Amino acid sequence: MRYSAWEVLRHGLTGNGGWKPVWRDPAPKPRYDIVIIGGGGHGLATAYYLARVHGIRNVAVLERSYIGGGNSGRNTTLVRSNYMLEGNMSFYSHSLRLWEGLEQELNYNVMFSQRGLVVLGHSDGQVEMLARRGTMSIMAGDDGELWSREECRRQMPYLNYDDQRFPIYGALMHRRGGTARHDAVVWGYARAADRLGVDIIQNCEVQGFRIENGKMVGVETSRGYIGSGKVGMTVAGRSGQVAAMAGFRLPIESQVLQAFVTEGLKPILPTVVAFGMGHFYISQSDKGGFVFGGDLDGYNSYAQRGNLPMMEHVAEAGMALMPMIGKAKMLRSWGGINDMTMDGSPIIDRSPVENFFVNCGWCYGGFKAIPGSGNVFAHLMATGNHHKAADKLLLNRFETGQLLDETGNGPSPNLH
Ligand SMILES: Cc1cc2nc3c(=O)[nH]c(=O)nc-3n(C[C@H](O)[C@H](O)[C@H](O)COP(=O)(O)OP(=O)(O)OC[C@H]3O[C@@H](n4cnc5c(N)ncnc54)[C@H](O)[C@@H]3O)c2cc1C
Repeated sequence: MRYSAWEVLRHGLTGNGGWKPVWRDPAPKPRYDIVIIGGGGHGLATAYYLARVHGIRNVAVLERSYIGGGNSGRNTTLVRSNYMLEGNMSFYSHSLRLWEGLEQELNYNVMFSQRGLVVLGHSDGQVEMLARRGTMSIMAGDDGELWSREECRRQMPYLNYDDQRFPIYGALMHRRGGTARHDAVVWGYARAADRLGVDIIQNCEVQGFRIENGKMVGVETSRGYIGSGKVGMTVAGRSGQVAAMAGFRLPIESQVLQAFVTEGLKPILPTVVAFGMGHFYISQSDKGGFVFGGDLDGYNSYAQRGNLPMMEHVAEAGMALMPMIGKAKMLRSWGGINDMTMDGSPIIDRSPVENFFVNCGWCYGGFKAIPGSGNVFAHLMATGNHHKAADKLLLNRFETGQLLDETGNGPSPNLH
């Protein structure tokens, strides 16, 4: 079923009873050319690009729960490409360009909104760093606009400019950044992959691997054994556990990240705003709720919920930046398990097991990466070669020490 204004009108006039499920519920086949573990955005996008770009359609996505039930359905939906290190810059630029044509490509409204993303600077030094970041973004083909304190005040009168500890000195505006609707991204890729013949199999947990002479030959699942020519892993916070089943360790820790949403309010926040003196960022959803988040909870965990001290920390940062938030009632909070690498950058690579490929280490930033990650991971799995946009996101950087450390915090996963 293709969506169009005509279809909406036709179904609207006939009681909306004619809509059909947009992906099938197939039983697993005994064998696939490629099995992808994990039905989040990355797994579904990989399957889609395998089928569409490389013509490999005998593909299954195995999801232990329901698609989008992991971090892809739990994030704060920020999309941006304002990184500074070679490797990250090329990858996130590639991803942002794919975002810009995604709705037409998938024939699905993912509510991609390039409303702009503003990062605040609270000292002369910080503003200089923002100028450098903006310049590098422009050189990478992206965008950046430096705002003075007066411009900030004009554009964002609702922020606290008189805070004694964190005065606002200026900001970097990234106009092509913004937000998208997270569930819709998952559903859009699922529908498009299904239309190309990909089997999306939910409630199917991978519980082990069959490896013969160092080569992956299939997966043991809660729904039986499935043979596969190649296997790709896109399980985010569960990456360490799944790699362990294949017999190797990854330079990854799993930590909880929380997010929060308030009751719906009238539109006031037209852009995304990121605080420069703490990890706090905020946007307003299309339903009117303020959506915001902050730091990781700070310890390793597989719980999909967070703790009160971090909630307090995030609320404090929100109050320092935007005191009016104190009047809003918080509706919900939730947590997701983030796959934090030692340098804060992702891994898209082969693994020590032949025909087993890893896509992980997305830390805070894997939602914006979904189109790019699916696209380059499919390229790697189909051709055996790294896509040029992702040829620095390799595992061996943890052996050579040539880390992609954007924040300069060193090998501490919870600081990135
Ligand atoms: C609170 C929060 C806020 C965030 N905000 C942002 C943001 O604003 N912008 C941004 O870019 N990123 C953000 N992120 C990060 C982003 O959400 C993730 O990096 C991204 O969604 C990861 O997608 P994924 O497909 O790799 O993983 P997931 O969506 O987590 O999918 C992995 C899937 O694998 C399944 N799985 C696990 N083990 C198995 C198994 N053994 N067998 C079968 N299936 C299995 C899981 O059930 C899950 O559905 C945020 C994350 C959180 C938690």
